Amino acid sequence: MKKVIIIGGGIAGLAAAYRIQEEISHNGQVSCTVLEGSDRFGGKIHTIRRDGFILERGPDSFISQKPAAVELCRKLGIDGHLLGTKTDHPQTFVYLNRKMVTIPDGLSLMVPTKFMPFVTTRLFSWPGKIRMGLDLFLPRRRGNSDESLASFVRRRLGTEALERMAQPLMSGIYASDPEAMSLNASFPMFAQVEKKYRSLVLGMLAQKRKRATAPKPKSPSGYKPFSFFLTLKNGLSEIVETLIEQSPDIQFRSNAQVASMQRNGRGWRIGLKSGEELEADAVIMSTPANHTARLVEDWAPGIAARLDQIPYVSTAAVVLGFDRSRFAHPLRGFGFVVPHIENRKITACTWVSSKFPGRAPDDRVLLRAFVGGAVNEHLAEQDAETIKQQVREELRDIMGVQEEPLFCEVFQYKKGNVQYRVHHPQLVSEIEKELADYKGLYLAGSAYKGIGIPDCVKNGTENAQAALEFLGVHAELSQSGTG
Ligand SMILES: Cc1cc2nc3c(=O)[nH]c(=O)nc-3n(C[C@H](O)[C@H](O)[C@H](O)COP(=O)(O)OP(=O)(O)OC[C@H]3O[C@@H](n4cnc5c(N)ncnc54)[C@H](O)[C@@H]3O)c2cc1C
Repeated sequence: MKKVIIIGGGIAGLAAAYRIQEEISHNGQVSCTVLEGSDRFGGKIHTIRRDGFILERGPDSFISQKPAAVELCRKLGIDGHLLGTKTDHPQTFVYLNRKMVTIPDGLSLMVPTKFMPFVTTRLFSWPGKIRMGLDLFLPRRRGNSDESLASFVRRRLGTEALERMAQPLMSGIYASDPEAMSLNASFPMFAQVEKKYRSLVLGMLAQKRKRATAPKPKSPSGYKPFSFFLTLKNGLSEIVETLIEQSPDIQFRSNAQVASMQRNGRGWRIGLKSGEELEADAVIMSTPANHTARLVEDWAPGIAARLDQIPYVSTAAVVLGFDRSRFAHPLRGFGFVVPHIENRKITACTWVSSKFPGRAPDDRVLLRAFVGGAVNEHLAEQDAETIKQQVREELRDIMGVQEEPLFCEVFQYKKGNVQYRVHHPQLVSEIEKELADYKGLYLAGSAYKGIGIPDCVKNGTENAQAALEFLGVHAELSQSGTG
């Protein structure tokens, strides 16, 4: 019987395990163990359920446009628990010049695709709007080399679009600085749109028309199929818990930190921190790149050196619960992002109880504010009490929140958010090229080909598939679940 070991029990490692479980259910020719260093599975995904609140320490939702996470939920039989965003006040704000300005309707990933909302928005000045309009006439860039997202947005849409839209959105979504962020790794579609249509605005409009005439996908169950963001009724950990429950043939071992790894004939020997040794025919490493580097540096120094070039930055999320009857702000919207030019200590605040249903009891309000990221990392590395105080001051000043919270919790991710810097795709292809010399070894997870949960699910599943094929276990990506 062939044996696969997966190192790291985050969503990428778990998705890989589930793919192997599917194979075991069909022909049983392989065994699999997931080794997780901490005392729980899920990695960055970590839901806390308390007093009727659903608190997310890390991610709180995933995008529906990339189907892998929805597909996994369907296989696990929890697609009926998928929830879209609320529809009563679907707007998000940018905090600009001490005012909340609605992000105009029709802004498709920072590119205007509706005329009137763009013309009337207060988000951009008239010179800024005219500069954005120049995109319609500017020539396309020559060549395929990577560039920073900032350079791309500045070139096509101008500085205001960068400072008031792209920067705060990138900081809110990726905790990244667009000046350093790879366009090709993070938004390859923008590079493709420019190549094909020349103008970003015309290209996004053409894609919008194509989507409008394409047949609409049917919702498999109760969730709103066209909600951009989805979460789960019981929080994102539901995906982790159900996956483990429905993978009876996988051995899930927590508190099993891997301390060493060596080639062992045609297979691999894994040493745990406890001193225990395990053998495997194939290994999927779904640990963060800097952890993976330490495990391979003795025998693959070239790979380790490249893994060390993938940086991580620190962030903190501050979660606050309030009594609704005493909360003055109407919270009509999903929350706001804060441009760096505003010089504040928070990068964004999600009005969680207004964004998703069921995150707080009806008589309570739940907010989540974000600190740190690539532009202001040091703020997230302060002690939790200082972060708490700073966030409360910011919410008082920005939103007028004077009320005492029922609770205020700080969740810190020190060096927890991976960053795709310019030339990241090239770095990953160099790693892959070198990895080809190490048969039976696979690298999965957010460090390589997509940071979001759907990307990690896809990447984990594909690596498991590659491992099964390497082991000669007959395997085709199954469309049906095991449940
Ligand atoms: C604060 C925050 C908010 C986010 N928000 C969103 C969001 O809203 N939507 C979205 O789609 N994405 C979001 N992301 C990104 C997404 O959550 C992550 O990219 C994804 O969950 C990473 O999954 P992973 O399996 O690659 O890695 P991880 O979740 O980091 O898992 C790696 C696992 O490896 C284990 N490990 C490390 N070293 C060892 C070792 N030596 N031996 C054994 N185990 C080891 C770790 O303990 C960990 O459990 C967010 C990320 C963060 C940090």
